[in-house]
Order: sequence, then C-alpha cells, then structure tokens
Amino acid sequence: MVIIMLGAPGAGKGTQAERICAEYSLPHISTGDIFRANIKGNTELGKEAKSYMDRGELVPDELTVRILKDRVSQDDCAKGYVLDGFPRTIPQAEALDEMLKSSGIAADHAIDVEVPDENIIRRMGGRRSCPSCGRIYHIEYAKPAKEGICDNCGTALVIRDDDRDETVRNRLSVYHEQTQPLIEYYKKSGILEEVDGTQSPDSVFEAVKKILG
Ligand code: AMP
Repeated sequence: MVIIMLGAPGAGKGTQAERICAEYSLPHISTGDIFRANIKGNTELGKEAKSYMDRGELVPDELTVRILKDRVSQDDCAKGYVLDGFPRTIPQAEALDEMLKSSGIAADHAIDVEVPDENIIRRMGGRRSCPSCGRIYHIEYAKPAKEGICDNCGTALVIRDDDRDETVRNRLSVYHEQTQPLIEYYKKSGILEEVDGTQSPDSVFEAVKKILG
C-alpha cells in the first residue's frame, strides 16, 4: 500500500501520517525529516537543503527525487509506505509515478488534509521545537509541562527557522503555487480523497481510517 499525504505545511499531515503508519505498520517517509536529519548531521545534502528550507522554499526537484528514491528502495519499504511531504511539485509526482510504474505498482490513495491559511498561520506561529530531540510543542495546543522546556530531554525550546511568520507566509504561497496543482493531478488519476483538517487530530484520523478501510 502506497499512501500519499497532501496538504499545506502545518495542516497536520505529518501527525496523520504517523498514525496511519502505526495502525497499518507502514514506514513513514518524510522528505522534510530526511533533510532535517542531514542538517543535524552537517552533511553536504543538509547544507544545500538548509539554504532553501530557511527561506521557506522548496529544495530542487532533482535532489529531492534522488533522496526519495534512495529511501524507498530500502527493504522496509518493500510492502508499501506513507509519503509525507512528497511529492510537492508536478515533476516530483511524475517522477514518483514513473518509479512506481517500473516496480509494477501504483499509489493507492492521495489524502488531502484541508485547512484554511488563517488556521495554518495561527497553528505554526505557536509551534516550538526541541533542538535536541526534535519533539514539537505548541504554546496553546500542546504545552510542555514547564514553559519553554522540553518534557523529554530538558532542552530549551526554540522556534524552528521555517516556522517563523515570514517563512510560514512564504511556505504557504509556495504551497499554493507549486503543490496545490497536485490535487487536480491526483483527482484526474482517481485516487484523491479529501478530509477536513480543521477538526481534532482524532476526528481527522477517523475520517482517514474510513478512507483506508
Ligand atoms: P516539511 O517538514 O515536510 O514541512 O518540510 C520542511 C521543508 O523541507 C520544506 O519547506 C522544504 O523546504 C523542504 N522539503 C521537504 N519535502 C520537500 C519536497 N518534497 N520537495 C522540496 N522541498 C521539500
């Protein structure tokens, strides 16, 4: 089973992807996580990706498709996977189609988690991250026990560069320009499903489970 999660940055597709993976025992493939791991490890790939990510822009297709292919060719992906944050452009979707076709499979579902821009700006503006263990908090919806401190490892929380207000607005305009056309793309291929992402994560997951059966 190959599932593609679509939606604006901050729509909650990562949370839903994690839940799907736990429920259906599938690996969670997040290109954003792969880039962040490379930034943390100070690799060449990380250095290149960071310059785009900090501005809220997309990492070039060629590089992104290469790391995706690399990741899904690993053994744990043999029975399927959940894609979170990939594809983000039409050329990436075409590269994915080609890659799947050559292995004789097709994507089963493209799930679009829909949230209006105003909600996204509020959600992302309050997001805080632990620079050490990566855990994400929110100043309204997911507070740490002690303000500004990670529950998990005690590190001071920070605002991720790509969660800053001007970056969020840029990411949203990049999303509308480059990623939203994928909704039409997957509608045409007949696998698009839409869920209302403004509900609680539990309710969104109920809707997702109905789709996946
Ligand atoms: P995410 O964690 O999925 O929101 O991704 C964080 C950032 O990583 C994005 O704003 C992009 O700069 C970069 N990124 C992640 N996935 C992709 C992709 N499929 N194509 C291009 N850039 C990506």
